[in-house]
Amino acid sequence: ATMPPLLSAIANAGRHGVLVKSAVVMEQLGQVDAVALDKTGTLTEGTPRVTDIHPLAASGLSEEELLRIAAAAEHPSEHPLARAVVDAALTRGLILPAGEDFTSTPGTGVTATVEGKTVAVGSPARLLNGGPDHAAAVVAARLEDEGRTAVLIEVENTPVGVLGIADRLREEAAATVTALTALTGTAPVLVTGDNPRAAALLAEEVGITDVRAGLLPQDKVNAVKELEEAGRKVLVVGDGVNDAPALAAAHTGIAMGRAGSDLALETADAVVVRDELATIPTVVALSRRARRLVV
Ligand code: ADP
Ligand code: MG
Repeated sequence: ATMPPLLSAIANAGRHGVLVKSAVVMEQLGQVDAVALDKTGTLTEGTPRVTDIHPLAASGLSEEELLRIAAAAEHPSEHPLARAVVDAALTRGLILPAGEDFTSTPGTGVTATVEGKTVAVGSPARLLNGGPDHAAAVVAARLEDEGRTAVLIEVENTPVGVLGIADRLREEAAATVTALTALTGTAPVLVTGDNPRAAALLAEEVGITDVRAGLLPQDKVNAVKELEEAGRKVLVVGDGVNDAPALAAAHTGIAMGRAGSDLALETADAVVVRDELATIPTVVALSRRARRLVV
């Protein structure tokens, strides 16, 4: 017997390195007519590196001391930025003190008690709360203008320094955006928790004009709902814990597998296992072909 078209399409998607979780999902993929893409880990490779270490003069900390407490607080986090901070510290041979009372807020950052003090590491916009023209905000803005993600470090609620972190754009990012635009008739939307400056620079490089930055997980859901209320069937592609609610709310959700968080992989309808973004337009096209054969 010949295999039903949707099942052969699932097998075919598998050969391209995409795990499609059911025949229903295989069929839905071909219906999408709008795409929302996450930035870090989706359009970028997902292995960011620390490029800048800026202790504030008032903190009295050295570069290594700043990195050491930041890494101690980030140690339990599975966020790609956290891994960048920990890797930078270990590469310099620093020995990390144990953190306690770890908490993590998606889209914002982490806190922990390190050597008896509360350390927060995360988004300058959220930690400084749009607040005063602190020296830290000036450093962060400069890094963001260069396309970096700025990460603020606070000890006992006082800013002590800023790290600059950068990730490489995926080689196939611009071609994938072009292919998705051709398939759906509209350019994808960028939905990111990162800062607006870095987001705009990257969007321009890949040919995206609709950029939504500084988003919390629920804001990503709202962006999807807004498109769906306008009659669109939205495909969301993301990798993080912060993408999970949007992956669930979307008509179809695809998670990037290699650096993806467990929650994103569980929530998504399909997983890109081989870590190639260009497989996404491929599976949409496979679905459309299979749907034409289903009678
Ligand atoms: P994206 O949508 O681009 O994948 P996220 O929503 O995961 O980004 O993160 C948004 C922002 O929140 C980051 O740019 C960073 O400023 C901050 N952030 C989140 N988690 C962490 C963390 N573990 N360490 C440092 N900063 C973090
Ligand atoms: Mg991400």
